[in-house]
Amino acid sequence: MAANRTVRRVWALDAPQLAVDCGLLMLGTGGVRETIPSPAFLVEHAEGLLLFDTSLASSAAGDPAAAYGELAAAFQIDFPETYRLDRQLAAIGYRTSDVRRIVLSHLHFDHSGGLDLFPHAQGFIGAGELRYARTPSNLDAAFFREADIEAAGRIAWNEVPAGYDHDLFGDGSVVLLSLHGHTPGTLGLKLRMPDESTLVLTGDAAHKRASVEATTGMPFDVDRLNKNSALQKIRLLGTQPGTTVWISHDPQDWADFRAAGAEITSAAELQPRVTDPTPA
Ligand SMILES: [Zn+2]
Repeated sequence: MAANRTVRRVWALDAPQLAVDCGLLMLGTGGVRETIPSPAFLVEHAEGLLLFDTSLASSAAGDPAAAYGELAAAFQIDFPETYRLDRQLAAIGYRTSDVRRIVLSHLHFDHSGGLDLFPHAQGFIGAGELRYARTPSNLDAAFFREADIEAAGRIAWNEVPAGYDHDLFGDGSVVLLSLHGHTPGTLGLKLRMPDESTLVLTGDAAHKRASVEATTGMPFDVDRLNKNSALQKIRLLGTQPGTTVWISHDPQDWADFRAAGAEITSAAELQPRVTDPTPA
């Protein structure tokens, strides 16, 4: 079969929001509260639909405390019913069963909440991530939710080893990036868009654009050395011609890149704002 070479379409789906202290996103920047998106990206490819991350649990839509208890208030979770992944897929003309593959950046609750909607999907996850989520260190144990780990247990996962980037279809159109450090199996995604531009989605390998520019992680990175390598890798990817890096939680990236709507047709047309690399 001829190689497809590019994805067909990408949507940055409507994202629930959380309010956090900036210091949670990047070391040395605390004291200001910021509202950040909890995204899921839908990718249409000739080989079928792929979802990168699954945002928050659909049971939290309209009633965040139902799924997250006291975390809902602590993070001021804002999750309208219309943002449920099944409803957004339906609005585009798809069913949840049409999603054939899930790539999970990592298992923290703000990325894995929708996994229960896709038990049929072929999963891709960083090596060791599920094992770690079941027995996390005290450092980030609060970010793993039992229901998400149970839902993950119903998916057949393929593990991507640390240090290995996996070309999903063998044509360069969708590449899973090993970006471990934030968690043991953190992944990013590199997409070749229809106009041959390249879109890099970081997951939580970086939380702010400034984190990449200053090689500075966040307080709950389990492995600071590899986290810094991941930040340097993201920075290098961003220097490649025609490449745009989208920091998943960065509210400014979200505002800039979604200004023209949820459907992203070209990475070249996305222009990130330049930030001051010096932490405040
Ligand atoms: Zn996150």
